[in-house]
Amino acid sequence: MNRNVETFIGCDSGYEESGIVLFGAPFDSTTSFRPGARFGSAAIRHESFGLETYSPYQDKDLTDIKVFDCGDLELSFGLPEAALKDIEDKSREILNDGKLPLMIGGEHLVTLGSVRAVFEKYPDLQIVHFDAHCDLRDDYLGAKLSHACVLRRCHDLVGDGKIHQFCIRSGDREEFLFAKDHTDMHKFNFDGLSEVCEELRKNNTPVYFTIDLDCMDPSLFCGTGTPEAGGVSFTELLNAILTVSKTNIVGADINELAPMLDQSGASTATACKVLRELILSINK
Ligand code: MN
Ligand code: MN
Repeated sequence: MNRNVETFIGCDSGYEESGIVLFGAPFDSTTSFRPGARFGSAAIRHESFGLETYSPYQDKDLTDIKVFDCGDLELSFGLPEAALKDIEDKSREILNDGKLPLMIGGEHLVTLGSVRAVFEKYPDLQIVHFDAHCDLRDDYLGAKLSHACVLRRCHDLVGDGKIHQFCIRSGDREEFLFAKDHTDMHKFNFDGLSEVCEELRKNNTPVYFTIDLDCMDPSLFCGTGTPEAGGVSFTELLNAILTVSKTNIVGADINELAPMLDQSGASTATACKVLRELILSINK
């Protein structure tokens, strides 16, 4: 008999033997519009059993690789800084053991916790960011720690020219002006991604890869807090993930699935498939 412990499908290896460690960060208390991303990681694990472990896109199988899924963190809801500290500590522990932290959000703010730990280990870190939104506000209604500010807080750490943003189609004018001087922003799609990744690959630059799932079009991914028309397709996202996977990824996350906002379950199923492809592509 086996214990009744639910992991992401095919990710039931032991900690010591695994190169990738999955963990959930069920937090959404700074969500600016429709909440529910706190349920994202649990829904992804549960619904992953509707998915095959085999990827015909990559001819790889989750059962052939070693991934440890340590479940969800227990995060403080009203205290974003405390939640970020717990995420940072978890990521640091995984990094110190020579493994790759792969986080399932949660809202996008959770990325900051993991990036803090990864940046501490890799001071020349660069970030590849897929999102509908700039997430570059200096504050959102007075809050410096908000999912609307998360890449701005990451910029505070890594500095100019080190954040590569794709699919961006929403933000206020100040965010786009900020991006002109401080980040490498590519609007609407993945144009320019191959060139950026080739440069990162050539220099073996450590990369943190953060995927806000709302980069996809809400016609296929409506289960998210701030849906934004004009997004990319699953196939475009998949090809982009395969491109980024050629770089030296040292930490990654997917975030902003709010499963209850799509009662059909299609958004959760899509998120599961994105995660499967991400795991298979970054496994070295
Ligand atoms: Mn975001
Ligand atoms: Mn977004």
